[in-house]
Amino acid sequence: MVRVRFAPSPTGYLHIGSARTALFNWVYARRHGGKFLLRIEDTDIARSESRFLDEIMTDLKWLGINWDEEPINQSKRFDVYRAAAENLVKSGKAYREGEAYIFRMPAGRVIEIDDMIHGKVSFNTDDIKDQVMIKSDGSPAYNFCCVVDDAYLKITHIIRGDDHLSNTPKQVLFYEALGLKTPEFGHMPLIMGSDGAKLSKRHGGVSVEEYKAEGYLPAALVNYLLLLGWSPGGDREILGLDEAVKIFDIKNMTGVQAKFDLQKLKWMNGEYLAKEKAENLLPLIKRQMADAAKSANCPDDALLRLIDLYRVRIKTLREFVPATDHFFGDGYSVDEAGVEKHLKPPESKKILLDFADLLDKVDDFSHARLEEACRLMAETKKIKAGRIIHPTRVAISGKTTGAGLFEMMEILGKSKVIERMRRAGA
Ligand code: GLU
Repeated sequence: MVRVRFAPSPTGYLHIGSARTALFNWVYARRHGGKFLLRIEDTDIARSESRFLDEIMTDLKWLGINWDEEPINQSKRFDVYRAAAENLVKSGKAYREGEAYIFRMPAGRVIEIDDMIHGKVSFNTDDIKDQVMIKSDGSPAYNFCCVVDDAYLKITHIIRGDDHLSNTPKQVLFYEALGLKTPEFGHMPLIMGSDGAKLSKRHGGVSVEEYKAEGYLPAALVNYLLLLGWSPGGDREILGLDEAVKIFDIKNMTGVQAKFDLQKLKWMNGEYLAKEKAENLLPLIKRQMADAAKSANCPDDALLRLIDLYRVRIKTLREFVPATDHFFGDGYSVDEAGVEKHLKPPESKKILLDFADLLDKVDDFSHARLEEACRLMAETKKIKAGRIIHPTRVAISGKTTGAGLFEMMEILGKSKVIERMRRAGA
């Protein structure tokens, strides 16, 4: 039976590249009816923190990744590693140096790995020095405890980042020395920034938690990560975990580095936002409003209408608050270039005031009725409707873009709309 694992070190938040590693392991397990395990690599006691572990687990669940079996912590297994190292000393494959246990690298051996993604890769042990298994402070070295635990957990396939490829020959030698069966390996190319450099904050964020806070939907982030290094075939781009589980084949993963394209992720998030039910977005939008310290004393039904109007226009949930600030009081942001262009010309001011007077007589302040009033005025004055629409939009929202003008006016209500138009036209 397929058994894979994700082995995070709780020394920081869940990196977007690690999230992708976890995702592909999970998809691989589910695809093959196997198990996906979690192992906590907390051997660095000083740097490991429970708040990081909590956040990693929360983020994995948020992405839709669940694990089988109780996770194990390496920090609780130091005795096991020491006993294994002790055996290698007894059999002459390792030696002690003070408190440390060191593995003697055999000379002149070629270690060949048939990688599931890269194919055959070989290493010569002459290029590898003796390996520390247990450090002098008693903590195990990554390569050694990784092997002891992968064997203990009966892991059949190890899917991880390319940054571990050079560790693999060392691990293969440990399997051999300990008399254990070597699993299959698959090393995924790392995710690079759009400029080809190592992914860093300037490329848009490196942790899942940052993307969550920014207002990306988990399904969109998952979908985007699935396409980094794997293709479902054809032009297909929108797919979820369930579909990936049905069609995933590790052979279709590329060995070429994947570039993180924030614009594409934004586009994808926009697609998911547009499809999502407004009720499901409501709590997330409320969170954004609370984070932005915007009063959320807007009734749910009014907020739902705004969400319906704006979710097709925003790419992340965080964009909602600045895009809709004019619905929440008069302290909204104003696009000065828009004011200059659409509100400064005296003829625009005149049109604005005339339209305000006309609207004053409209009782049914519905978007359909407002649109009709605008069209009639344009016809009467023999001007293009845009000459009315643009100044009105800037007057009531401070912006040159946004939702449909008449829908916005309907939601803002008659008195607010007329007040803002008269102020701008004065
Ligand atoms: N803790 C290691 C890492 O996060 C795990 C590597 C592995 O999967 O073997 O890179």
